[in-house]
This record gives sequence, structure tokens and C-alpha cells, in this order.
Amino acid sequence: MNPILKEQQKKIKEKKEKARKYKLKQTRNMRERGHKLCGTASGVHGYCMKCHAKKEIINAQKVNLKTSRKVYIGQCIDCDTEIYKRKDE
Ligand SMILES: [Zn+2]
Repeated sequence: MNPILKEQQKKIKEKKEKARKYKLKQTRNMRERGHKLCGTASGVHGYCMKCHAKKEIINAQKVNLKTSRKVYIGQCIDCDTEIYKRKDE
């Protein structure tokens, strides 16, 4: 194999790796910001219908329903789908 070509491929690989790590870092930062936005409801988890798993709710807001039930409404940390979580009080 051509050594110059090999060197080039190595550089491309490094670049890709760097971009991947950068993206990961950005995602983590976004999540941390999401946590802060949660305010009183930070650390609330709900079942996401899209992810089919229990996920942390970002931008969670306490809402009083007509049935005098309190719920948290927010977005899934992974897919931004709206999640409802009953507040057990
Ligand atoms: Zn989700």
C-alpha cells in the first residue's frame, strides 16, 4: 500500500474520531443544561413511548389536571418526545 495514502487515511480516521468525541461532548452539555432547566422537577423519570424505556424528563413542568391530579409534563432526554408522569403525593 502507498505509504502516503496510508498516512492520509490515518488522518481522516483521526478527524472522524475527533468529530465523534466533539458531538458526544455537545450532547452531554445539552443534557446537563436540560437538567438545570428542570428546576424543581430535576431527576424526574417517566416512560417514553418512543424509546420504550424509562427516561429522564427534561424541561419538566408541574401541571394540575382537571381531575385534580398533578402530573409532570416534559420531554424525553433522548428523543424529545413529550412525556407525562404522574406525581405521587
Ligand atoms: Zn424517548
